Amino acid sequence: SDHKLEYPLSPAHMDWSSHYPAFVDSDPTKTTLSGARKLTKDVEVVDIGCGFGGLMIGLAPLLPDTLMVGMEIRTSVLEYLSSRIHALRSQQQRLKNRADQPASEQPQPETAEAAAPVHDDLVGTTQIYPGNFENITAIRSNTMKFLPNFFGRHQLSKIFICFPDPHFKARKHKARIVSESLNTEYAFVLRPGGLLYTITDVEEYHYWVLKHFLNQPEDGTPPPSSKDLFERVSDEELEADPCVRVMKFETEESKKVTRNNGKKFVAVFRRKADPEWP
Ligand code: SAM
Repeated sequence: SDHKLEYPLSPAHMDWSSHYPAFVDSDPTKTTLSGARKLTKDVEVVDIGCGFGGLMIGLAPLLPDTLMVGMEIRTSVLEYLSSRIHALRSQQQRLKNRADQPASEQPQPETAEAAAPVHDDLVGTTQIYPGNFENITAIRSNTMKFLPNFFGRHQLSKIFICFPDPHFKARKHKARIVSESLNTEYAFVLRPGGLLYTITDVEEYHYWVLKHFLNQPEDGTPPPSSKDLFERVSDEELEADPCVRVMKFETEESKKVTRNNGKKFVAVFRRKADPEWP
């Protein structure tokens, strides 16, 4: 439960150094408020309720210089994803070492276990990917409670919410991770021009998303536009965005929906500039 969740006092206290060792600043005097080593750049992309991490693994080579984090509430799922990322990084390292050395000098694993692939991702892969998966990580968190502890105002360029748990019953709607109050938090951590991606196979949830992001009253009257912090991104723009393809086909849930010939409803919103104060 939540009392076991670890979270920083503020974004300036967060220790990311063990998550992104390849991005730790070489100057050891640069430290966070908690005394941890700083990174050379900020985390910019968040996958909310990332599950087994297919989205980030698909995005990692597409955005190799962008730091991304998946947040997941279930311990066992998080553990699986962390070991999956660790295994991908080690495999990339082995492939790089092999490419750098003549065959006779290549390091041999000490045990059969060390040589065996840990996850399906690794079987037969010989490709060296841009970024070597050093730019992705996962954290156990309840994003409904702790998002602003991890990210400062305007820090993020993209947020993904892929196949959120539908919580069908009306009395369970308060557990949905799209809501008026949570959307205000998403707007706070997203920079103006930043994008919030959503996808669901539940049509009714898609309309819920549209209603809550566009502040669109159900009776069809125009929304009070000054309050509105998001605008919907057009289909033409989405067709040119490779992140949308990853979201539609590479998350574990999207693969399940594809197998079952289910429908997928995509909606992406751009964070508008902050309204001017009168
Ligand atoms: N996004 C993944 C995908 O597309 O394959 C997983 C989708 S799964 C249906 C929803 C995930 O959100 C689950 O793994 C669940 O544990 C996680 N989740 C639900 N509420 C959460 C919360 N408040 N904070 C973090 N993760 C949450």
